[in-house]
Amino acid sequence: EYLQLDQQIAQIFDILKLSAEGKKISMRLSGEKPIMLSFMPDEFRQMMINLIDNAIKYSEPQKAVEVILTQDDEEVRIEVSDQGYGIPTKDIDRIFERFYRVDKSRSKEKGGTGLGLAIVKHIIYNNHGKIEVNSELGKGTTFIIHLPKTRN
Ligand code: ATP
Ligand code: MG
Repeated sequence: EYLQLDQQIAQIFDILKLSAEGKKISMRLSGEKPIMLSFMPDEFRQMMINLIDNAIKYSEPQKAVEVILTQDDEEVRIEVSDQGYGIPTKDIDRIFERFYRVDKSRSKEKGGTGLGLAIVKHIIYNNHGKIEVNSELGKGTTFIIHLPKTRN
């Protein structure tokens, strides 16, 4: 099924609107429009909700979350950036493991199970994509997803 990704992401912003507004966090979508990709709707939604939920959850109030969509002949790239707490370098390689959480006390207060990114990784793997993370403590985090347009 072909999805219009910018439209899908606008819908996901709506779903997460209340939690973002509760922290006065703004959500912005930029980049190319329209971007079309063959992808399972439920998987796409789950992947983006998990990433944007994290971006909101691990940021101080009044920061911004941005999603940038770009593409070339081979792939679509989705960048999810926040201005939040950041992730220590020593933990970066482990955040995609099931139940791994960086800051135990903070994680407890924030709720959740530590499965969000493991699911994201699984969905991306199933669709032959890859994900990169760049993070700076106290500055923020960017996840970049690469999804191929053809899978053979
Ligand atoms: P769940 O997603 O199941 O509700 P969770 O958010 O703790 O729980 P993951 O989404 O898998 O689990 O994230 C794993 C850990 O990686 C988080 O506990 C947090 O410490 C860290 N993390 C994830 N995303 C970010 C982010 N955008 N900024 C800072 N830390 C992050
Ligand atoms: Mg999460």
